[in-house]
Amino acid sequence: MKALPTELSTGPKSLQPREKSVARVALEVPLGTLFDYAVPAALRVRIGDRVVVPFGARQRLGVIVELASTTEVPESRLRPLVAVREDAPALSQHWIELMRFLASYYQRPLGETLLAALPPRLRSVKPLPRKTLERRAGEGEPVFIPNHAPTQAQRDAIARIVGSLGRFEAFLLHGVTGSGKTEVYLNAISAVLERGGQALVLVPEISLTPQLEARFKAAFPGTGLALMHSGLEDVPRTGAWLDAARGDAGIVLGTRLAVLASMPRLALIVVDEEHDTSFKQQEGLRYSARDAAVYRAKLAGCPVVLGTATPSLETWHNWRAGRYERIELPDRASAGAALPKVRTVDSRIDAPEHGLSSALSLAIQARLERGEQSLVFINRRGYAPVLACEACGWAAGCTRCTARMVLHAAGSSGVTRKGSLRCHHCGDEAVVPRSCPTCGNVDLRPMGRGTQRVEETLAARFPAARIVRVDRDSARRRGDLVRTLESVHRGEADILVGTQLLAKGHDFPALTLVGVLNADTALLSTDYRAPERLFAVLAQVAGRAGRREKAGEVLIQTRYPGHPLFDALARHDFSGFASAQLDERRLAGFPPFVFEAALRAEAKQLAAALAFLRAARDAVEPPEPVQVFDPVAHVITRRAGYERAQVLMQSASRAALQAYLTALSAHLFAEAPRSLRWHLDVDPIEFD
Ligand code: ADP
Ligand code: ZN
Ligand code: ZN
Repeated sequence: MKALPTELSTGPKSLQPREKSVARVALEVPLGTLFDYAVPAALRVRIGDRVVVPFGARQRLGVIVELASTTEVPESRLRPLVAVREDAPALSQHWIELMRFLASYYQRPLGETLLAALPPRLRSVKPLPRKTLERRAGEGEPVFIPNHAPTQAQRDAIARIVGSLGRFEAFLLHGVTGSGKTEVYLNAISAVLERGGQALVLVPEISLTPQLEARFKAAFPGTGLALMHSGLEDVPRTGAWLDAARGDAGIVLGTRLAVLASMPRLALIVVDEEHDTSFKQQEGLRYSARDAAVYRAKLAGCPVVLGTATPSLETWHNWRAGRYERIELPDRASAGAALPKVRTVDSRIDAPEHGLSSALSLAIQARLERGEQSLVFINRRGYAPVLACEACGWAAGCTRCTARMVLHAAGSSGVTRKGSLRCHHCGDEAVVPRSCPTCGNVDLRPMGRGTQRVEETLAARFPAARIVRVDRDSARRRGDLVRTLESVHRGEADILVGTQLLAKGHDFPALTLVGVLNADTALLSTDYRAPERLFAVLAQVAGRAGRREKAGEVLIQTRYPGHPLFDALARHDFSGFASAQLDERRLAGFPPFVFEAALRAEAKQLAAALAFLRAARDAVEPPEPVQVFDPVAHVITRRAGYERAQVLMQSASRAALQAYLTALSAHLFAEAPRSLRWHLDVDPIEFD
């Protein structure tokens, strides 16, 4: 550009091109672009600053992602920034890099991605109230009070992790249930804190494991601990964010969203139970927190530890391909504790009565006599999954979904009639009809069983036993669940009945028996991931038994006692199981040997959803190594009143698939009709 026209170079405001006088701002709008604003001479700004900007007639909060000296926007239309928010530290370059990666990998606009990662208070144009600004993270001497002297295997694991501090390295910490993985994390974290770093610990579901939070607090009494999960109210959530972002918190402990926390001195990331599907977000930015953690560790140049007894096949494959280091903890840590004995009960021979085989009943009876605890696992909540009329074949269905209504009993046990019908897909509730709406038959029957019915059966069979049920219904309020689990821990329960809420992370010292009721449903599933998930959940729930000196026993009721999955489980042979699964996946062309994405649409009419998907498919030609399948309706086609369909895309080349997705989403953001809801899911794990 030549000399500026004189009328512009004079005047009250100097319009000489100033170094970096243009701020490129990310805003929470469904567009992939950044917005340019002039930086008034009086404002000092940096990349990562939160700023208030004019947008249309209103003001909005945005984040400066780039600073530039020039802009395409004509001078006359370039509006100035209104203010810089200094109530929270600027977001780091690393953090913005992470957001850029997530936005591009998961095909979402950068502004939406970046702002959605901030707690709501920090997204608002209003300044933070003073109360929120108070520091809450403790500030004392960073002491470490270990729980136990580590075993040799734990010492080796700690040494390898600590030895990699300061550079990127991905570890698979493969430790059997009860092997003391948490103790390894705590020791590694203490080394991080000693060096003035921050540690990020991701767990599947924090509200279910108050013990874990307590262990962290007890181990690091002088260190700020920021808790992050979606159940937090605005103020504590913002407070935790600020503690992490200012570096006041040495440790951030949270669920998947914590991977998005700003941490200036991040030096270690731990993903506990890395196989857990809750690390994948199922709406908005559909990110995998585990994968994001690995990428983030690379950006930060720090180690990441993926801990589990049952690695996801993706992680296992990454280890075998040499991308991750595996550290093994082959034995239980507690003195005298061994892995439980797992055996199947052939339900064709020992036919269950009201769901319980005689072998399991006897085993529970023996525990009651010895004052030990039993856990009965059934992965279905409610009283019965179906309410049916035997006269005409009618079954209660949800009016908004392609699904049956689940019968829920009213009280903690008993009385079916006063219960309700609930849809587990959309949450709809209905009263239990007095008679069959089709034929008038008054004798409607609950078919099959859920946790409530099993609880009822157990109460009838063992009237003196103290029975505690734990599932999403009994655990509606976090406080209730915490109290329940604490009382179980103190031994104030004889029999636990529950869903996989009971499988995760709990350490009940007196528990020596686990009974598994309905594993066969998953064995028969057509989802190629079903065996992986079944193995994981059974290994986890089995892992609750015998965590101290007394031996643990696991009984699995099944019609397929010779199934290789149960064999591998009984031998505690994850490696053999994983190899067999990976061989099958390789032959069938499933992940992790190909990369997948799904384009999904929802509409009032299935035809509209399918037509949209067909048009999208035809509009953007996939490059050679990308395969795009035909649009199909979901198995549960209607959910909450919308008909759903999807197109599956796959490729052996991640780069090719990414390039195709970028072209496809550019087309969709520009062309998709507003009347229809659609989204892309990259590395999808749920297809129903
Ligand atoms: P994981 O997460 O691998 O299932 P935990 O970390 O919960 O295992 O540890 C299982 C149990 O073993 C806990 O009760 C823990 O206190 C105990 N434990 C861990 N490390 C040791 C050790 N070195 N010596 C004795 N007990 C230990
Ligand atoms: Zn009927
Ligand atoms: Zn429904």
